[in-house]
Amino acid sequence: MNILILGAGQLARMMSLAGAPLNLNVVAYDVGTENIVHPLTGEVYNTSLQQAVEDADAITAEFEHIADDVLTLCCQSGKFYPGKAAIKTGGDRALEKALLDKTHVQCAPYQLITEKSHLVDAVARLGKPLVIKTCQAGYDGKGQWRLKSDDDIAKVWSEMAEFIASGTADSPRSIIAEKMIPFDREVSIIGARDKHGNTVIYPLTENQHTNGVLTLSVAGKEKSAIQQQAESAFNKLAQELDYVGVLAIEFFDVQGTLLVNEIAPRVHNSGHWTQQGTHCSQFENHMRAVAGLPLGNTDLLRPTAMINVLGQAAIPSQVLATRDVTSHWYGKTAKPGRKMGHINVSANTLHSLGERLAELAETLPEQDYPGVAQTSTALI
Ligand code: ATP
Ligand code: MG
Ligand code: MG
Repeated sequence: MNILILGAGQLARMMSLAGAPLNLNVVAYDVGTENIVHPLTGEVYNTSLQQAVEDADAITAEFEHIADDVLTLCCQSGKFYPGKAAIKTGGDRALEKALLDKTHVQCAPYQLITEKSHLVDAVARLGKPLVIKTCQAGYDGKGQWRLKSDDDIAKVWSEMAEFIASGTADSPRSIIAEKMIPFDREVSIIGARDKHGNTVIYPLTENQHTNGVLTLSVAGKEKSAIQQQAESAFNKLAQELDYVGVLAIEFFDVQGTLLVNEIAPRVHNSGHWTQQGTHCSQFENHMRAVAGLPLGNTDLLRPTAMINVLGQAAIPSQVLATRDVTSHWYGKTAKPGRKMGHINVSANTLHSLGERLAELAETLPEQDYPGVAQTSTALI
């Protein structure tokens, strides 16, 4: 079976690696060069997007910021999963909030902004501090401003106005203001839904961000009440979107109540631990769902942590000397802060996972791998 993935980054690479044992042949569309490429080697195929769409048995995407004409072409084929509405919703915070409101899933209080008076209203209605985000662009915390006092309004507005003005009739730009949530921690839920509406859901993941970028995730800690809240949100949203594939939802945990931060209509960085922590990874389940195959087991095998490797030229080979550590390298050119790969580490208990993280902390410098030492202490 042939699968076409829109996007040719690390998520396409890992989906292709997971698809191979299922006899799924994956090609990727590089949205930058507009080439059809091999997802591992980058080899450029002498074929057009149109042809690749025709040749594919199923089409999916590794990210949500995709040009409208490409999305339309793929949707018209009738083979695109999770579908245009889901991708559009994941790529536009205004649509995302509308979906949350419609399905009665809780999120941070917010206000949409297209002119300066809306920003002033937002400060009056929601209070300070506010997190201001671009609706249609932004990832890894880019395209965000923090508004802490009334003095910030003019400066923040001038940057926002520039973003809004960069929109066109075809792709209008807007901004959203959210109340800054004093969360205890951040968690995410990842699950898959197949073409018949069956769902499988992984155990909740606890996530740590550093400067807006995910740096460390741990799975295997959750109590059932909080897992149930997350699963309920997942089921409502996946059903409303008539979703097919893997869907990720990020939450703020505020004293045991989950508020949705954002949704991602795709495999997600906070689900990379599933490669070692479960029988069937998020990548395999996404491929299974879009290919029309039965979904795989999402039960936790062992508590597992994932550590992102940011900006480094290689994964330090000595970490592989730590028991049950695996390396996942993306084959990209190194740039400061860029996601280059990740390390997964598993153990039979949370306590022994803490011990393994302590071992890793001895070789991984704190400034490059924040939170490893601290998480190990919390688990031991
Ligand atoms: P991603 O790479 O996950 O797609 P993104 O650029 O879409 O990131 P968000 O997830 O919206 O950005 O925000 C990045 C981080 O900023 C969050 O994980 C959280 O730590 C913080 N943050 C965002 N919104 C709020 C909020 N309303 N209150 C408090 N913190 C927030
Ligand atoms: Mg995002
Ligand atoms: Mg996020």
